[in-house]
Amino acid sequence: MPELPEVEIIKRNLTESLLNKTFLSVEVYCDKLRYKIPQNFIETIKNKKVVNIERIAKYIFVTLDNNNILVIHLGMTGNFLVNHTDDEIIPIKHTHIKFLMSNFRVIRYIDIRRFGFIIIFESGKDVASFFDKRLGVDAISSKFNSEYLINKLKNKKIDIKNALLDQKIVGGVGNIYASEALYRAGISPFERSEDIAKSNKKVDNLISSIKFILKDAIKVGGSTISDYKNMDGESGYFQYKFNVYNRENLECNNKNCSSHIKKIRQSGRSTFYCDSCQKE
Ligand SMILES: [Zn+2]
Repeated sequence: MPELPEVEIIKRNLTESLLNKTFLSVEVYCDKLRYKIPQNFIETIKNKKVVNIERIAKYIFVTLDNNNILVIHLGMTGNFLVNHTDDEIIPIKHTHIKFLMSNFRVIRYIDIRRFGFIIIFESGKDVASFFDKRLGVDAISSKFNSEYLINKLKNKKIDIKNALLDQKIVGGVGNIYASEALYRAGISPFERSEDIAKSNKKVDNLISSIKFILKDAIKVGGSTISDYKNMDGESGYFQYKFNVYNRENLECNNKNCSSHIKKIRQSGRSTFYCDSCQKE
């Protein structure tokens, strides 16, 4: 499942092919994504120019010159594949939408499990009111600071790991990078959110760990993928070198620690951690 770094890399790749370009044609092969592709999808986009692309949390926002905004979420397995039209075009399984741009790039939206979606809002105002109650600040933005996080955590009795997965608290952190960030911060995934909020030191450490991990992963992703073929075959996304995620029973990477990484279920999601380095 793509988290903030993967979505950021995909957004950067899309920006190269989309920004200041016009949609020459749009073909929809399957409209049954998480939300049905609307009837007027093609006519709304066709012959419109892309004037802005940005990412907030795990969403990509593509603004057109008619002020309409495409809001894209990649779900579990969504991705975009960009080709030059003179490339050999072979049919690619699970291609649901195909865009032809004025620079003759062919962009395919591919999504095996179809939990992703592309929806259209008529204005920035509509987008803002839709996301207002649904989405906290972006995890690598300057708005994600200690004052903000203390405020969000101070009355929460839930485990900090679960709080980090709540997109209304912080946008963009998912199951993988939540485990990694807590390990880097030396904070137990079971520590209560309201207790963390009482320690400025812990809050600062948590925020800087989250930002470090996400930015480092973006750096790695940006250097390892130039096209879809270089991505990890199974997930379709680049692979970051994890310290705890998927390392159950392996030795802790901290040289001063002799423990092994543990895996537990926390609210139905797997959490990886070191019980020596991340004591409560
Ligand atoms: Zn350890």
